[in-house]
Amino acid sequence: TIELTGIRKAFGDLEVLRGVDLSVERGEVVVLMGPSGSGKTTLVRCMNLLEEPDAGHVRICGCAFQCGVRRDRRGRARLMQQVRQRTGMVFQQFNLFPHMTALENVIEGPRQVRRLPGAEAVSLGERLLDRVGLADKRDVYPSRLSGGQKQRVAIARALAMEPQVVLFDEPTSALDPELHAEVLQVIRELAADGMTMVIVTHETHFARDVADRIVFMDGGVVVEEAAPETFFTTPAKERVRSFLRLVD
Ligand code: ATP
Repeated sequence: TIELTGIRKAFGDLEVLRGVDLSVERGEVVVLMGPSGSGKTTLVRCMNLLEEPDAGHVRICGCAFQCGVRRDRRGRARLMQQVRQRTGMVFQQFNLFPHMTALENVIEGPRQVRRLPGAEAVSLGERLLDRVGLADKRDVYPSRLSGGQKQRVAIARALAMEPQVVLFDEPTSALDPELHAEVLQVIRELAADGMTMVIVTHETHFARDVADRIVFMDGGVVVEEAAPETFFTTPAKERVRSFLRLVD
């Protein structure tokens, strides 16, 4: 479903990704871990082309993209639109539209992009709000929701595009600790339903439960990948062991 090869990205002089190879199979849950600044956020943003890599090759949900070559604006816009339609993204900072209710936030994408008729979009939105446990908040504005509720609306909104893959960038890091569980539970349920997901998180217990594979990045490269059990008990690299001592 996702295949990244030789991904490089620099911001000015700062080389953030220095040749990343990563593949994710359909139905797989991959957790990306690593120290702050190691390039995890940049890598997930490169997956759906929110950030365009300087070099490398991105294949995601049937779209293929050779980075660092010139292409005409129209072709590029079409490709980006295709990629964004097939991937959902959940950010640290929810990014809900403040002037729209929970339901309106969820159905904005299907209405505008998928041109779903009003009644169908509403019933889809209601179903998704129910799935994240927020059926009773459909007409509430984000300012009246808790952080955990906002993030669950953001997850419902990502699902509303019926994506083949959902990318999560530290979905709980902007939340008070007591609100983490409700968001993580929704993600666990998606995993149980077989959703393909890439999740950047520092939550080790959650990662251990939910991941099929942990990918550890440091200094813009993948340092180690392993099944969670192996990763947390017998990691091969000293770099991983010292990281785990710090976060546990
Ligand atoms: P964290 O766990 O702290 O979120 P991360 O592993 O996700 O870290 P990134 O957010 O990918 O790391 O950032 C890697 C480096 O790239 C950081 O030094 C960051 O300051 C820099 N960086 C990220 N985005 C930009 C940008 N748009 N312009 C300039 N520098 C950037």
